Amino acid sequence: MNSYFSHPLSQQQAEDKAVGCILGGAIGDALGGPVEFLSLDQIRSKYGPNGIQEFDVAYGKVGAITDDTQMTLFTIEGLIRANVRGTLRGVCHPPSVVGYAYQRWMKTQSEPYASFSIDEKMPGWLVLHKELHHRRAPGLTCLSALRQWKESEANNQSKGCGTVMRSAPFAFFYDPWKTAYDCAGITHGHEEAKVSSAILAQAIYYILESNGVENAFHKACELDTTNSLSSQLVRTALDLAHSSVDQYRAIESLGLGWVAEEALAIGVYAAVKADRDYECGVRIAVNHSGDSDSTGSICGNIMGAFLGERALPSRWVQQVELSDVIREISVDMVTNFPPDSENHTPEETKALTDAFWDKYPGY
Ligand SMILES: [Mg+2]
Repeated sequence: MNSYFSHPLSQQQAEDKAVGCILGGAIGDALGGPVEFLSLDQIRSKYGPNGIQEFDVAYGKVGAITDDTQMTLFTIEGLIRANVRGTLRGVCHPPSVVGYAYQRWMKTQSEPYASFSIDEKMPGWLVLHKELHHRRAPGLTCLSALRQWKESEANNQSKGCGTVMRSAPFAFFYDPWKTAYDCAGITHGHEEAKVSSAILAQAIYYILESNGVENAFHKACELDTTNSLSSQLVRTALDLAHSSVDQYRAIESLGLGWVAEEALAIGVYAAVKADRDYECGVRIAVNHSGDSDSTGSICGNIMGAFLGERALPSRWVQQVELSDVIREISVDMVTNFPPDSENHTPEETKALTDAFWDKYPGY
């Protein structure tokens, strides 16, 4: 499997876009976390008429990430391990390897996980970060599906947004649409949950190919041959972003974001409405009565991929929880593997390969 980044970007550009996308999502998640379970009226009475504008305390700290970012990081981990496995062993089924990564996320939630699926001797680098071992309102569908997982599709009809909120990383790997679609099925059986994930991943891939945000989503929606609710609602969101409807009424008309297609549409709406202003975008995305951290996360993924890391406000980059870990795994996501043997001695190549295997064991 040749899963790695094949866009016409330099290594420096690829890292800028990867960090922008993943850290941008984490910041949107952290901004929305304190208001996830508040109505718009409650948000306004606490923070004023414009709603929450800066990080506040959630889960006992300022800038805390939630399950959205946790699962996004384990998506990246799974995809890197899938690539390592495919490259060195020649055979790989990405939904299985990503499924094992989600089992390691289950471990961070102190959940009973399918014990057959965890090799304690080769845990890899990510799960060893104790700061990840906190419950941040994990999605119940994700938990129940992963408890029963046997390298299989979820046996449910859920279309909760727990799929689309973790799906931005697929944009950086081979065949984003199919891999995101298949990996959404690990936890959610409903078609909309899978198509929403596929649209987000494919659209971010188009953004990496230098398309604007709107054009990227129009192109991604054209791949949806079933004309699902997901692509219909994304098109509605794009229209609304250019209408005179005010942001609060526009988001209300798209839904609350607890289900996948609504979360995607709200994230897209905020990203387009804000044009090139990242701060404005994530603020629009989180100030509503629904699933604020997920819509903030999706908007942040989109805008960060489009604008790059430099668009992220430095105070939020510094304050967001696990900023260094998020940055490091984002860079690893677009680091060539196996290492380029033309620029290294055989000994150096072997040492780099072994070190990456230890960090992301491809078994
Ligand atoms: Mg969350």
